[in-house]
Amino acid sequence: MSARAAIAIHGGAGTILRSNLTAEQEGRYLHALQAIVTAGNDLLAQGGSALDAVSLAVSLLEDCPLFNAGKGAVFTNAGTMEMDAAIMDGKTRRAGAVACIQHVRNPVQAARAVMEHSPHVLMVGKGAEEFLRKHGLQFEDQSYFYTEERHAQLQRASQESGVLLDHDAASLLTTTEPAPLDPDKKFGTVGAVALDVHGNLAAATSTGGMTNKLPGRVGDTPMLGAGCYADNQTAALSATGTGEAFMRSLALHDIAAQMQYLGLSLEQAANNVVMNKLPLYEGQGGIIGIDRLGNIVLPFNTEGMYRAYQRTGEEAFAAIYAKSG
Ligand code: ASP
Repeated sequence: MSARAAIAIHGGAGTILRSNLTAEQEGRYLHALQAIVTAGNDLLAQGGSALDAVSLAVSLLEDCPLFNAGKGAVFTNAGTMEMDAAIMDGKTRRAGAVACIQHVRNPVQAARAVMEHSPHVLMVGKGAEEFLRKHGLQFEDQSYFYTEERHAQLQRASQESGVLLDHDAASLLTTTEPAPLDPDKKFGTVGAVALDVHGNLAAATSTGGMTNKLPGRVGDTPMLGAGCYADNQTAALSATGTGEAFMRSLALHDIAAQMQYLGLSLEQAANNVVMNKLPLYEGQGGIIGIDRLGNIVLPFNTEGMYRAYQRTGEEAFAAIYAKSG
C-alpha cells in the first residue's frame, strides 16, 4: 500500500444556473454528492480497489432519482427508458459496457458483469439482458425507472427543442408558465473515477442518455475513450455532455494520448480537450479525471456540473456551478 487514495464523481453537466436552484435544492444535491463520494472514499480508505469504489459510487448515483441514470433515467421519444453504462479497470485495461438496456436496476453492475463474466466488451439490448439475468443481476419493470418529472421533461423537450441534455431540458422551464418539471429536479449522467492505495485507477459512467432521443440511440457513455476510460499509465476519466461530440472527438482517449505521447499533465490535456477541442464539435459538457499521482481535474464548458471529490484523510468537496460551490 503506497498511493494516496482518492475518488471524484459527477452527476452531469449542462445549463445549471444558480438562479434556477433554491438554497434548499442546492443543499439536496450537495448532500447527495457528499454522501456518495464519502461512501466511495471510505471503501478506498479500507484498502478497497478503485474498481469497487467506482462501482459503488455509480450504483449509489443510479439509485438516487436526482440524477439521470438508473432510477430517474430520461425518456426516449417513444416514452421508454434505455440506459447505457461502462466500467474500465486501469490496471488490466479490461472493460465492460452495456447499451440500450431497459430493466437492469444498476446498469454499472451490468457493465461490470460483461467485463468479468463474458469474453466481450460491449453488449446491447435483449441479448445483454438475457446474459445479465443468468448472472443474477437485479431486474426491474420500466415503471421502477419512471418519474413524473422526467416525463414532463420529455413533453417539454419534444415541444420546444428536440434532443436535449437533461439539465438543459430542465432549464427550459420559464418563469411565465407553470413548470412541467419540478425545478428542484435536475438530472445528470453520472460517473466516478478513483485511485486506490495499490496505485490502480478505474472509471465508470452511467446514463439514461439525452431526453427525447430516438429509441436505439447510443451515446458516448458506453464507448470507451469517449465517455469512459482508464489506464494506469495515464488517467481514469468519465465524461458528461453531448455524447455525439464526445464520440466524434474520442475526447477521453485524446486526453490520455496527450498525456502519454506529448507528456502533458492531466490538467493541461483535460483543459485542451474540454475547452478547445470539444467546442469544435459543438460539444458541451465536462469530464472528471484522476491520474496515478492522485491529481484530480473537473473541467467543464457549461454553466455547471454536479461534482465532488475526496482524498483519504481529507474532507469531501462538492460543487455545482462554474464559480465556487
Ligand atoms: N453523455 C450523455 C449521452 O450523450 C448525456 C449526458 O451526459 O447528460 O448519452
